[in-house]
Amino acid sequence: MRTTRQSVRKNIENPPKPQHVVIVGAGITGLSTAYYLATKYNIRSVLVDWSGTIAPGASGKAAGFLARHWSDGTLTEELSHRSFYLHQELADAFGADSIQYRRLTCVAVNQSTKMKKPKRITESIKEVKLEWLDRESNELFIRSVQDMGNETNIAQVTPKLLCEKLWEEVQRRGGVLVKGRVMNAVHDDETGNFIGAKLDDGRTVRGDALLYACGPWSANIMYGIKGHAVTIPTERTLSQVVFFYNDDDDDDDGGTECEVYVRPNNTAFCTALAGELKLVTEEPGKETVEADVIDGVLEAVRGCSGTEGLLCGDPVLQSACYQPVTSDFLPVIGALSKEEAGGENCYMASGNNCWGILWGPATGECIADLIATGTTRLNIRDFNPSRFPDLKPVPQNN
Ligand SMILES: Cc1cc2nc3c(=O)[nH]c(=O)nc-3n(C[C@H](O)[C@H](O)[C@H](O)COP(=O)(O)OP(=O)(O)OC[C@H]3O[C@@H](n4cnc5c(N)ncnc54)[C@H](O)[C@@H]3O)c2cc1C
Repeated sequence: MRTTRQSVRKNIENPPKPQHVVIVGAGITGLSTAYYLATKYNIRSVLVDWSGTIAPGASGKAAGFLARHWSDGTLTEELSHRSFYLHQELADAFGADSIQYRRLTCVAVNQSTKMKKPKRITESIKEVKLEWLDRESNELFIRSVQDMGNETNIAQVTPKLLCEKLWEEVQRRGGVLVKGRVMNAVHDDETGNFIGAKLDDGRTVRGDALLYACGPWSANIMYGIKGHAVTIPTERTLSQVVFFYNDDDDDDDGGTECEVYVRPNNTAFCTALAGELKLVTEEPGKETVEADVIDGVLEAVRGCSGTEGLLCGDPVLQSACYQPVTSDFLPVIGALSKEEAGGENCYMASGNNCWGILWGPATGECIADLIATGTTRLNIRDFNPSRFPDLKPVPQNN
């Protein structure tokens, strides 16, 4: 009798650490969480993904651009700094080449359209190092160049390769992947504790804690912004990311705006024309690539100074995917209340918008710490899911 009372009290004061975590979504957020649960706490995960594959959505199709300092002075500064550090740590552990991780430079180029000489040109053109713009033929069309970062604060990784490496490590430590669409969480009637995730085919995946890491499909308060990209071969290996833009209201054809992320394998991931914020009804991994948007991206890329000589050949890849966003554009990272989740031991990590690859590792580390110890090294108060009073996980609106 005495022993039982003592152990009951111990459990209330110090609840046992979960041993099997069900993670809904095998994107970078879910995989990073599984990785830190396994490596820091020896806790196993069952990843459940609708597609049955690793990173079928944005986590396998994003650019992989990582900037340490771009959110300085905002609520996500700490998340960016910690995650930039963790990316380097992961590159050291996995081997930088195996995930195409490297440090590089970045510039923003304000340019006029090809046919017009800009009305103003700043001295910055001469001051900032341009790695791959041919000054002689393009100077006339460039108004200004802004230094956006260098090897101390800019890096790049190929997201799909990173996700596969995280998965390899998780699998080696006993993690498994189940194909299935999670419909809801099941809780014990008496204790209210999470006991399993119900799939659309009626199966239940059992566990003692649950993380919703389903990107834009995570909750009714989540939206997606669709992005299209083309990957084009480059003439040589480049190491400067370029953001082209045009701030001239007089340019009647709207000018050109696009982002060119050169990769170490002599390709450039080019994106432009981000879509509107909307509820996502397309299935993960089956996002339609819209031909007219791809044509628009190609036109934007070809309209940019210096791209004609360096980006050679036809695109080797065309893709479309959604970045997950909330109405306040802040992440959702934390424990769900009993009312939101229908019971205890449920968590959510999503809404990492256009920085989900950068923030993936630190988000995963936070959730792993929270599940295993109840605390986090980062302050995640501003990302608390309960700021959305009507939050409901995994809405079935597809
Ligand atoms: C074009 C583009 C370029 C980008 N470039 C960058 C960049 O350079 N740097 C950067 O930091 N970020 C970038 N991002 C953002 C980044 O890609 C995302 O924020 C990040 O991938 C989100 O990861 P996630 O794991 O949270 O979600 P996702 O990758 O969307 O993964 C969610 C997973 O959940 C699964 N799922 C959904 N619902 C269910 C369910 N009910 N049951 C089971 N499984 C389910 C899906 O199949 C999917 O695999 C870019 C985004 C886009 C669109």
